[in-house]
Amino acid sequence: MKCSRCGTENPKGKSICLKCGNFLYSANPNNRVPLTKEQKKQRRRSIFKGTSLGCLWSALAIIGMFILLGIISYLLVRFVIPEDYFNDLATISSTQNPGENSTQMTTANTAD
Ligand SMILES: [Zn+2]
Repeated sequence: MKCSRCGTENPKGKSICLKCGNFLYSANPNNRVPLTKEQKKQRRRSIFKGTSLGCLWSALAIIGMFILLGIISYLLVRFVIPEDYFNDLATISSTQNPGENSTQMTTANTAD
């Protein structure tokens, strides 16, 4: 690999010039070794593989996040919010049947 700045021949695999420290694989496409058709095919295939795998992992991560969210919300409802909160809600929703009436009903049933 010839350095584009000083022209020093560097051993293959080196990314920085031995003499001047210039980055050999710069953004300049002229510095890059042209790939053969077969190499390009392989690269495209590997990129496709990588992206499909990435999609799978991201999908799994999203599903996992939803599951985690469900577990957290369940724990929140189960432990953080006191049970009285739900009892209050029940009494508010059933205004037609207050607690006093039901106790009267039970006493009437025992009388029979
Ligand atoms: Zn150089």
